[in-house]
Amino acid sequence: MPETIGEYIDRIVNVEMLEHDYPRRGRTHLLYEAARAKQGAPLTYLAAKGLMEHVKKDDYVILLSGAGISPWLEWGETDGPTGIASLARALSFGLGARPVYVGNEKELGPVIASGVAAGITVLDKEAVEVYKRKSTALSVPFPLGEKGAKAKALEIMDEFKPTAVIGVEKHAPNPVGVWHSAAGQAISGNTQPHVHHIVDEAHKRGAFTVGIGDGGNEIGYGLIREEANEIYKQAYGKTCQCGCGGGEATATATDVLISAAVSNWGAYGVAAVLAYMLEDPFILQDADTERRMVEAMVLEGAVAAGMHAAVPWVDGTSPAVQQAIVTILQEIVHNGLRSCGFGDFPGDGGEIVGRVSS
Ligand SMILES: [Zn+2]
Repeated sequence: MPETIGEYIDRIVNVEMLEHDYPRRGRTHLLYEAARAKQGAPLTYLAAKGLMEHVKKDDYVILLSGAGISPWLEWGETDGPTGIASLARALSFGLGARPVYVGNEKELGPVIASGVAAGITVLDKEAVEVYKRKSTALSVPFPLGEKGAKAKALEIMDEFKPTAVIGVEKHAPNPVGVWHSAAGQAISGNTQPHVHHIVDEAHKRGAFTVGIGDGGNEIGYGLIREEANEIYKQAYGKTCQCGCGGGEATATATDVLISAAVSNWGAYGVAAVLAYMLEDPFILQDADTERRMVEAMVLEGAVAAGMHAAVPWVDGTSPAVQQAIVTILQEIVHNGLRSCGFGDFPGDGGEIVGRVSS
């Protein structure tokens, strides 16, 4: 049954609504199908199942986000923070885990604000451990550029010993070390937190890893790197715009990759399957909470990519659509947990009318 729930949740979070000239328009279903073929089951279901198996009460879970490119997206973009906030709520309320936000310090502002709107307060580590309650998270800034990144990744892994690491709309480099935008242009790695080293280290230590993205250039797509580059090439005739030879898709693979129309929605999908599996719809934010989460991140400077403005839109879709997606997910979870009583209908013994005999 959770697999059935995940099947339709996957479809809801993969409905593309991009503007006609948005760079990755028309590729959402292709990336999803490639990810699905590789993994063989509904993606949101696989992620929720893996989290249920690996994450125990009081475990730390690292949440990575941040797709900022200075100065256009100085405090990051609107795709990422609410997805992280939704997962923080689900992990905390649902599994009693302790979320740890890791990323570029400037971009953590919208993540924290969105998390607060979702019901998750950020405290320091000592307070979180003393508090021993659901609804708290930690926030750890990560330096920009490659220098010192591996050491910082090891330090974070040693300190928190996370049982899961999840990236939402988090850029990472391709195999030749070049970072790309969703449109396939090269961007400087010096302006990015190299948190993909945390994912690499998590693999070595047996932590469960999930990558949630929508373009191919985010953590997780290493799982289908060749397929993602081929899909990009079908649209543009080459695998990236800078000619580096490494392609637009990132090298960083995760245990589960969720390819969605909007990365935030992929994260909501995981929260929804968790809500179903734990039989508690409250774990997933409702539509009113979603509105507050979206507005909170924008007040902290998050910018809607493509619109170049700090407005409560995400990847070309309006605030109403964010609430609509959450409303549909809530309904799938609620109905999945309730009976319609159909099994009680005995039939009335009526004759079969109009049936053609074989
Ligand atoms: Zn390139």
